[in-house]
Parts: sequence; C-alpha cells; structure tokens
Amino acid sequence: MTRVNILDWILLCPFLLVPAFACQASQTLDENETAIVAWSEAHTGEAIELLERLVNINSGSLNQQGVKDVGAILRTQLDSLGFETRWVDMPVDMERGGHLFGEHRGDRGKKLLLIGHLDTVFEADDAFQTFSREGSNATGPGVEDMKSGDVIIIYALKALQHAGVLDGAQIMVAFTGDEESSGKPLSVSRKDLIEAGQWADVALGFEPGIERDGKEWATISRRSSSNWCLEVTGKQAHSAGIFNEQTGAGAIFEAARILNGFYAEVRGEQYLTFNAGTILGGTEVDADCTTPEGRTFGKTNVVPNRVVVRGAMRTISQQQLDRAREAMRAVVARNLPVTDASITFEDSYPAMAPTEGNRQLRNMLSQINQDLGRDEMPVLDASVRGAADISFVAPYTDGLAGMGAYGKGGHTPNESLDLDSIPIAIQRAAILIYRLSR
Ligand SMILES: [Zn+2]
Repeated sequence: MTRVNILDWILLCPFLLVPAFACQASQTLDENETAIVAWSEAHTGEAIELLERLVNINSGSLNQQGVKDVGAILRTQLDSLGFETRWVDMPVDMERGGHLFGEHRGDRGKKLLLIGHLDTVFEADDAFQTFSREGSNATGPGVEDMKSGDVIIIYALKALQHAGVLDGAQIMVAFTGDEESSGKPLSVSRKDLIEAGQWADVALGFEPGIERDGKEWATISRRSSSNWCLEVTGKQAHSAGIFNEQTGAGAIFEAARILNGFYAEVRGEQYLTFNAGTILGGTEVDADCTTPEGRTFGKTNVVPNRVVVRGAMRTISQQQLDRAREAMRAVVARNLPVTDASITFEDSYPAMAPTEGNRQLRNMLSQINQDLGRDEMPVLDASVRGAADISFVAPYTDGLAGMGAYGKGGHTPNESLDLDSIPIAIQRAAILIYRLSR
C-alpha cells in the first residue's frame, strides 16, 4: 500500500499540474482536519519518543509498580490536556496495579470512551525488555500491544487541542492496568470500565490495527471468550460388569458421549467455536474446574466414577452464546445408564457483536481514510481477532476496535511496530473524534 503524505498534497496541490482527483483528498477535509493532519505529521517524532519511554518501563500485568509508572507518565499527559484524572486502585489481594481514568468534560456531540491498556504480557523477569529501532521498524515489549495505541490516544487528543477543537468535547479515557491478565473477580476489576461504557455513546479501542492483503481493515466485532467445565460421575465397579443394569456405562464413556455430542450437534454455526482443553478421569481424580493441572488414578479393570473436562468457547453475540450453552446442556442431560453429568459456564469476555451502530462507525472511519487519500476500509472477519477490553463495554455502546498502528508478533519476543503507521492512526482517530463530537 502506498502511503500518501497528505500534508505534501495539501501544500503542493495548488502548484502542481496534476489531475483533479489527485488533489481531491485535501478538498474533503475541513480546515480543522487539515490542521490536525499537519500537526500530527510534524509531531510523529515526539510521539515515537513517548512510545520509547513507555516501552522501556516494564509493565507486565503482575508488575504493579511498572503499571503505575507507565500510568503516571500518561496521567501527566492527560492532565496537560485538561483532563480530570484519577487512579483506580485494585484490592491488595487482587495483585494488580490499577487503572488510569481521565475525563474531559464538555457539552457537545457524542460521549466518547477511548480505551487503552498499560500492561503487557512481558513480566519483569522476561528477557524482552527494551525498545530498539531500525529505520521505520521498532521492536520492544508492548510496542504494538499496546503502548503505541496509548500514544496514539494522547497524540490524537493533542492534535485536536492544537486545532482548537478539543474544547467542549465529551471524552473519557480508560487505561486499564490488567488487560493481558485481568484481576478477578471481573465485577471488581472491570467495574469502572463498564460504568464508563454505560456513560458512553461510542467506544474506540486502540489495540493494533490490521493491515493485510494490501488493505486496511475496520474491526466492528470481536468474539466473546468464556469457559465451561463438565463434571461427570459414574458408579465405580468391577469392569466385568460394565454395561449391565447395576453398573452402567461408567464416567469416561459418558464424558466421551457428551464431547462427541458437542462435536456432532453443537458445532457448526459460523463464529461459534469451543475447545476441550483438559480431561481427567478415573477412580481418584484430583481435579476441579478452575485449576489447569490435576492428577488421576484408575485401573483398566475398574469402571471409573469421575471425569472433569475443562474447556473454552467463543461466540459472536450473547444470543449465540446463550444458544450454544442451551444446546450443550441438552446434550449433557441425556445421560448414559448409571451416570450423571453437569456443565457449568463461567462468564469472562462478552462478545462485541457487529451491530448497526458499529457498522455506521465503520462507514465514518472508512470515509475518513478515503478523505486522507487512502482506500476504503472493509470489515474484518470477527474470527481473526480475540477478545479485548472493549468487549466489556460493547453491550452498552457502539464501538470500533483496532484503532491503533500496525505491527506484528504481539505477545512474542519479536513484537514489532511499523512506525510509519503512527501518524495515519493518529489522524484517523483525531478526525473521527472531531466528527463525532461536533
Ligand atoms: Zn492488548
């Protein structure tokens, strides 16, 4: 994809003998938007310096001091933009650093919630700790996911302030400190975020954007992510009697029947996936629904009396989740002789469904991209992205995710960012905020 330097076009167009369409980009931006573009082009270097500072502070989700230190830098930035900021501490036994919230009070346009996170998956003892740069490629822990997104939020707001259009806008910024490993219970760790979502008309998530197959993509939905746990009991007995009236099928055959039933009857809807992650069965099963490890004992000539299966599932909407859970319950209920089974579901990330409101936001974003001289932004298939913090507010507000810059290798020691994609991400965000808050 060619990157058009919009500022060059704007400055040069009047003097160039070029076809009219080549100058069209600048004609669709108003003077404030033109100022936003010019300012962000001129301040990309400064944005990258802030990114380098943030990346060089370790803020693994469990490194509470690091999360607070990253938050302190961003808090200073928000304070200087006229935001009222507050640090939200988490209960001590949750072992998480807390969240930074900032509010810009205003009286016009939509109420906007901008979402970032302070933490990374790289803890203090990880080998991957520093920012480095080669040309337009930068590597570092969190450089893509998502300290660049945090910087884009700050610089979009600065661009708006510079253009004189931040005053009056109603904006809440939420930087959570535990996105990569959320504190439990979620009712506590996501309380403030959910309240902000209930306040907002529009939420924008600044996780990395997606550029592939020569296209820039808009994210209007993310699938839910939650867990299930199947517990099966049977009658322990000599294996010689299995399948007779007194002994029945045993717990392991019953578990196998249920899993096969999920595969045969529940599988198949688009965007619905479920995985069985662990299974333990026998006569002395030391396992439960929350622990990823366990022990079991059993003999080949003894009918087993217990099985525990732990799994996860993803859905595109709450309706699909409800439907799938109901279908799984129906399979579980048809017990083989002398066995019993129950399934429990644990809520985690709700779905960000592809609503009409989200589609309209996509249309606005895509139009802005075109006004900036780039291509239309098609809707990204929901199955390629995991859940994120924006999912918690999606039930209450319209939203777009993936507003950040482009990188690759997130959550790996090769995490990198295309620094050239920073200014366009800032411009798209700032102009979208501007158009929504008019
Ligand atoms: Zn992230």
